[in-house]
Amino acid sequence: MSFPTDAVALITGAASGIGKATVEHLYAEGVRRFALVDVNSTMPTFDDADVLHLCGSVADPSTWDEAERAITECFGRLDLAVVNAGISGAGPIADLAFEDWRRILSVNLDGAFLTLRAAMRLIPGEGAIVIVSSIAGIKAEIGVAAYGASKAAAAHLAKVAAKEGAARRLRVNAILPGGVDTPIWTGMSFEALQAMAEASTPLGRFATADEIARQIAFLLSDRAATITGALLASDGGYSL
Ligand code: NAD
Repeated sequence: MSFPTDAVALITGAASGIGKATVEHLYAEGVRRFALVDVNSTMPTFDDADVLHLCGSVADPSTWDEAERAITECFGRLDLAVVNAGISGAGPIADLAFEDWRRILSVNLDGAFLTLRAAMRLIPGEGAIVIVSSIAGIKAEIGVAAYGASKAAAAHLAKVAAKEGAARRLRVNAILPGGVDTPIWTGMSFEALQAMAEASTPLGRFATADEIARQIAFLLSDRAATITGALLASDGGYSL
C-alpha cells in the first residue's frame, strides 16, 4: 500500500497516540505533505517532508479559519484527512457536571464537525476521510455517557458525510477502536489496562496505536475504494 507523494494529509491530535502513529505510518507509506493540528506543539517532523504544524484546539472555529488559510497557502488543497483529536472523561450521569459534559462534547463532537467541515471544503474532488470514533459510541458502559454520546454522534457524521461526498468520490468512514494503549488512559498502569482488556475483550488485549494507524491508512487507501460510510469496529470482539 502506498500513497502518491503529492498527497496532502490532515491529521488532528497528531502529537500523541493514534494520531502520531498515523502520521508516522502515512509517512512510511509515501505521504510527504502533512498538515498537523494539536493543542500540543510537539508534533512529528521529517527531514524530507513538508509538514505544516498548526497549534490550536480543534473545537475553536478560529483554529480552522487559520488552518484553512494556511493549508490553502502551503499546499493548495487536501486529499486525505484523519479526524482524530479527542479527550476521554467518565462519570455516572447523575454526577456528571454540565461543564464536563460540555468539555467532552466540545472537543469530541464540535471538534469533529469543524475538522470534517474544513476537510470537505479543502478536498476539492475525490479523496478520503477517516473519523476516529470509539466502540463506546455503540456499546453502553456505566459512566461513559458524555464520551459515548460524543463518539456515537461523530460516527453518524461519517455516514452523512459519506452520502454528501459520494458524488465526487470522496469517501468518509469511521473507525471504532476498543481499548488502545495510548496516553489517553492517564492514571492507569499498563498492568491494570492489560487486566481490564483480558477480562472484557475476547481477543484478550488492547490494540496498539500502530495497529489502529495501519487500519486508518487502509481506509484512506485505494484498497478501500468501495468502502464508504462504514463504521469499522476494531475492538478485539469487545462489543460482541
Ligand atoms: P492521546 O491522548 O494519546 O492523543 C490525543 C491527542 O489529541 C493528543 O495529542 C492531544 O493533545 C490532542 N488533543 C486533545 N484535545 C485537543 C483539542 N481540543 N484540539 C487539538 N488537539 C487535541 O489519545 P488517543 O488514544 O491517541 O486518542 C485519539 C483518538 O482515539 C481520540 O478521539 C480517542 O477518543 C479515540 N479513541 C481512543 C481509544 C483508546 O483506547 N486509546 C479508544 C477508542 C477511541
